Amino acid sequence: MLSGNEAIARGAYEAGVSVGTGYPGTPSTEILENLARYGPEVYCEWSPNEKVAFEVAAGASLAGARSIVTMKHVGLNVAADPLMTLSYISVEGGFVACVADDPGMHSSQNEQDTRNYARFARVPLFEPADSQEAKDLLMLALSVSEQFKTPTILRSTTRVSHSRSLVELGERAGGNKIGFVKNPPRFVPIPVWGRPMRQRVEERLKELQALSEKSPANRIEWRSKGLGIITSSIAYQYAREVWPDASVLKLGFSYPFPDALIREFAQGVDRLLVVEELDPFIEEHVKALGTFCQGRDFVPGIMELSVDRLLQSRRLMEGGEATRKEEDPYRELLPPRPPVLCPGCPHRGIFYALSREDVVVTGDIGCYSLGAFQPLDRMDSILCMGAGVSMAHGMEKAGEKRKVVGVVGDSTFFHSGITGLLDIVYNKGHSTIIVLDNRTTAMTGHQDHPGTGRTISGEPTVAVSIEDIGRACGIKRVRTIDPYQLDDAREAIKEELAALEPSLIVSRAPCPLRERRRVGATRTILTEECRACELCLSLGCPAIEGVDGVMKINQTLCAGCGLCEQICPAGAIVSREGA
Ligand code: SF4
Ligand code: SF4
Repeated sequence: MLSGNEAIARGAYEAGVSVGTGYPGTPSTEILENLARYGPEVYCEWSPNEKVAFEVAAGASLAGARSIVTMKHVGLNVAADPLMTLSYISVEGGFVACVADDPGMHSSQNEQDTRNYARFARVPLFEPADSQEAKDLLMLALSVSEQFKTPTILRSTTRVSHSRSLVELGERAGGNKIGFVKNPPRFVPIPVWGRPMRQRVEERLKELQALSEKSPANRIEWRSKGLGIITSSIAYQYAREVWPDASVLKLGFSYPFPDALIREFAQGVDRLLVVEELDPFIEEHVKALGTFCQGRDFVPGIMELSVDRLLQSRRLMEGGEATRKEEDPYRELLPPRPPVLCPGCPHRGIFYALSREDVVVTGDIGCYSLGAFQPLDRMDSILCMGAGVSMAHGMEKAGEKRKVVGVVGDSTFFHSGITGLLDIVYNKGHSTIIVLDNRTTAMTGHQDHPGTGRTISGEPTVAVSIEDIGRACGIKRVRTIDPYQLDDAREAIKEELAALEPSLIVSRAPCPLRERRRVGATRTILTEECRACELCLSLGCPAIEGVDGVMKINQTLCAGCGLCEQICPAGAIVSREGA
């Protein structure tokens, strides 16, 4: 039993992949973590961002190695630049970009359908529907890549990546011969050589389409001819459950589309329905072929599909009415439970300190995004990785009257915060940037990054200094603070906000979950001292409870960070050791 992500890693191992790169991002992260476990036969690395990861894997491919790069859907936006041109210059060793989409935005700032990138870059697309297919299609993608010298995309989704199903294991194939063969007309896309490459991309697409027509990854399952469903990925599993008698054209080698197969299937059924998650990628193509089909008429086009949602589609198709109850019967019963920063989280002190200042805070992507929720309510915008730094500068240049503070995590700083910092210095900005350095990529499950001093396989390496990078970018006011020392943190923030030049504050304390230990002794509230002012609740610590005006600290949850003790005006919160 393997998860989809474990199966992709296994497929890469068995196919003789010798280089794997990536940047962590739910739901893709476990692909590379598992590939790294195959040890010295496969070189793996977390790169600072997806563009770098893509380019490292592309370099390995040009040297002859089979390689994969892993990322979540928004990561492909970052890596889109090399993708678009690698499609031109072509690859040598098999190359697969394994991209996991997050329909329903369980852990993402937007919903994107990576399939559009395959058509955009004119590269083949593979879509597994379970773990066995995740392994098989990864291996097929590598061999198609090598045969046609094209990069390929394997698109997974949350449910494929994180569900477990049976997988048959095989032996590892031998690796490719390594050695870059110089060939500028093939690998250097200056206009004189790039134009023929452009032609070749179109010819290659036609050849790939012929392959997709007869690929066993695209198959017709004939059942009742009354209804035919064209589907792919996890939507196939849902459709089989909701319409068990319908005939199905299941696409696994989804792009280029197998047009003849689609026409053959359409002609064999009375009614044609496309069931796909997110964009009408297949539906629009089927319609462009001049074939009548239905899809978005009944199947929702945003948020994650499910059997329940498709049961609604079926009811609508059969002339009934959709009911909300079936979709989510517990919606009315459950209390809302927004995510919150963990007890003892080092970011809490900074957000609390910021909540005492009249500033605008441009935030970024990471677990510290939770600082946007009440009661901290101290993040005013989030755009994408690194934008916490650059947007602060933009607001300031627009003439925002209040001071603007950019907040970014350590991993995000290395990912794409550095160029924004350079911009602030170069273009004479005054923003204060705070790096929330918890010594890990916490949001995605505690992966290492260039600042942690460890590689993906746990080997010691250089720990790059955020402060040194700040100075190298030209920031003169660089300081490091302990976010658990609230008075010091507030003073530092006040001073830097008042400065008429850009500043960088590195707020450094390791994530207690990563460290697997409490920050200090647990705290307790002396009921007789407590004035029930509820100031401690303004920290938003899940360990502090107020029931009928009586304040308590849950001893199981308390991580002993001491922040509540520092803000209590009555001295009612004390260390349990001293209680
Ligand atoms: S801040 Fe102190 S005095 Fe106020 S409610 Fe909390 S424990 Fe009681
Ligand atoms: S209860 Fe107080 S000491 Fe314990 S984790 Fe929460 S803020 Fe920190």
